[in-house]
Amino acid sequence: MLPAGFRMTPQRMAILAEVQNAERHLTAAEIYERVRRKYPTIAYGTVYRTLHLLAKHGLIQEFPFGDNASRFDRRTDRHDHVHCIVCGELVDVEVPIALLARQVAAEQTGFQIIDHQTVFTGICPTCQEKQEREAERSRATASR
Ligand SMILES: [Zn+2]
Ligand SMILES: [Zn+2]
Repeated sequence: MLPAGFRMTPQRMAILAEVQNAERHLTAAEIYERVRRKYPTIAYGTVYRTLHLLAKHGLIQEFPFGDNASRFDRRTDRHDHVHCIVCGELVDVEVPIALLARQVAAEQTGFQIIDHQTVFTGICPTCQEKQEREAERSRATASR
């Protein structure tokens, strides 16, 4: 079922498929690279605009992290993320206690909470390893 007012085209379908088949949360640039294998002449702007459109119609989710650093998520249900401040990687995380946050927010403010997402910010294992290796290297240079 397509949302009302949304026209599906083969190109849009290909862009949506890349997000849905992705093994992780890709950036617009990464999705563009993948779509280009099938549509070599497609413009980056087209991919970028289509991604926003797909997100607007609820077919995917968009998580903006600064300029052009949005990540796109095939999951459209409510879920939480961890976000690496070094490489930008965005990973799904199941934190049961994050659901409690909604209740606490409602109780403290009287708001009727419609939605909430928790993003844990940090440094991913790959970047931690890289930082450790670099620290070791600089220690080795310093002691020489
Ligand atoms: Zn990282
Ligand atoms: Zn996600």
